[in-house]
Amino acid sequence: MEQFSPEYLKRTLLIFAMKMRHRLTYEAAEDMVKLLGAFTNESIPEATKYFWKKTLKAFSQGLSIHHVCGNCMNYIGLFNGNCYNSDDESETDDNELCVTCSSCRVRVTEKESLTAGNFFVYHSLGQQIKNLIEVNGEKCDYRETRKKINPFAFEDIYDGHLFRKLVPPDMLSVNFSVDGVPVFDGSNYNMYPLTCTLNDLEPKKRGEHVMLCGIWCGMKLDTQSISAFFNPFVRESQELFKNGIKVNLNGVIQVKKSPSCVRYQ
Ligand SMILES: [Zn+2]
Repeated sequence: MEQFSPEYLKRTLLIFAMKMRHRLTYEAAEDMVKLLGAFTNESIPEATKYFWKKTLKAFSQGLSIHHVCGNCMNYIGLFNGNCYNSDDESETDDNELCVTCSSCRVRVTEKESLTAGNFFVYHSLGQQIKNLIEVNGEKCDYRETRKKINPFAFEDIYDGHLFRKLVPPDMLSVNFSVDGVPVFDGSNYNMYPLTCTLNDLEPKKRGEHVMLCGIWCGMKLDTQSISAFFNPFVRESQELFKNGIKVNLNGVIQVKKSPSCVRYQ
């Protein structure tokens, strides 16, 4: 991922917040920045639609929007020809993509699903681990490099019998957790972040590099909706377990086996 200065990112985030809050076009946002520049005698050359789109693209890598059926909470998946749990995909008279839920047969369009909030955001676990290694330069070798103090004590997750049995030394492993928090006091609207930490980083760094893999916003998760929410995470984990992650280190492509998930809270 391209590196952006913290100053640039802070400024760009504020401009995006203003753009969204007031539903400004890119042209209006550019004019707003130019106007500010006229007052402060400072021009910001990178405050243009081109740079903003480039920034958005860099931070949108691996992000996807997944839909669920609002009627039965069945997982539908991605629109645009990638609906995993629908056997019928067509277009409405307004050229909108429309799918039929394979469970309750209700038809739903992407626009309706977005308006009703029947979706969640998923951020690729593989892409985030790849970034940790390629961009942050993390070696992910703590399992080999750590110094054990007491041979009889459980000092880290690696000391567990089941961990040693299930996770071979060349395999990365992650802890994942999901916990709901009400967004407003007394409201039924909840937010559930799905977060992961990589066990192959030293303990201090695990907390510094918490990976946000998914966000569910809406009603409380129940058995059906939690299964929909976990769908892309489970599928990607299986794919990574089978094929590993390809990382480019100084031009050398390596395959890291990953991940084995070891805990659910
Ligand atoms: Zn349904």
